[in-house]
Amino acid sequence: MTELVPPRQPRPLGSSGITISPLAWGMWRLDGDVRAVRARIDAALDAGITLFDTADIYGYGSPLGFGGAEELLGEAFAEAPGLREQVVLATKGGITPPVPYNSAASYLAQALEASLRRLRTERVELYQIHRRDFLTHPQEVAAALTRMVEAGKVRALGVSNHAPAEVTALKTFLDLPIVSTQPEFSPLRAAPLYDGTLDQAMAEGMAVLAWSPLGGGRLLADGNPAGHLLARQGAAFGADATAAALSWLMVHPARVIPIVGSQQPERIRGAAAALQVEWTREQWYAVLQAGTGEPLP
Ligand code: NAP
Repeated sequence: MTELVPPRQPRPLGSSGITISPLAWGMWRLDGDVRAVRARIDAALDAGITLFDTADIYGYGSPLGFGGAEELLGEAFAEAPGLREQVVLATKGGITPPVPYNSAASYLAQALEASLRRLRTERVELYQIHRRDFLTHPQEVAAALTRMVEAGKVRALGVSNHAPAEVTALKTFLDLPIVSTQPEFSPLRAAPLYDGTLDQAMAEGMAVLAWSPLGGGRLLADGNPAGHLLARQGAAFGADATAAALSWLMVHPARVIPIVGSQQPERIRGAAAALQVEWTREQWYAVLQAGTGEPLP
């Protein structure tokens, strides 16, 4: 008997009044032209995915350049009136190459303005600090984030790649909630199970957006022992290994939201099959052990 079932319904994002889908789609690997982007957006919407994750830095290191992914998405919105309203838009700021991290209040304010301009929108639903800047006091970050919400440019606040203690420090200075956290999480990178990230999210009602849910594709590459188990689990529910890998994250009691990273419309559409894949505890723990390569004590 399976006892672990993925959440299948849209749900509220904390107290923000925003409704989010159980899966998200991400644009770290965005490339191509606006037509290609539109095909992926349509595939995501077909799959019931309305939560879209991007960042100002996406495109950096590729021909798109810094801001390029936001720019392309903004073009897609501009070409299709009504599309923007179908999407719960999450972006991030705070990495500014060649400076690793910058969460100075003045920098974040202008980073948000630039993101809104590229995205051709007046506000985003979720603004996330991409990585923690060790050189900005959390009180200053909190003040910058508060101003974004008060100005109506951001509906809700989140963080990414933050340790629980860093979230706690930020919250100490913030009167508004932090509604989401975004760690890397997959059977190949199980740290959030152990380092308090998921526990904090459950205790404080934060949504967990898991980045690189397939380990950037490595999880399903030939020969990975976890990949083999995932393929078998998927097949038992008429789905594939990708669907099983996403479901494996979703059945955690934190109701983790995997960010689908594929840029192939068929794969994005196929992600919806994750909702069908169920687990027993034994099967779930077998994937954890195979993925980390470490037997549980
Ligand atoms: P992922 O789903 O782990 O990896 C996607 C990659 O795996 C793509 O190159 C995809 O190729 C490939 N892939 C998909 N299915 C496959 C299969 N069956 N076999 C082999 N390869 C397969 O996710 P990700 O792209 O690394 O990350 C997802 C999202 O997380 C990003 O878009 C971004 O929104 C977010 N993210 C956030 C951070 C952060 O610091 N907060 C960092 C990284 C990513 P195709 O495109 O050809 O399908």
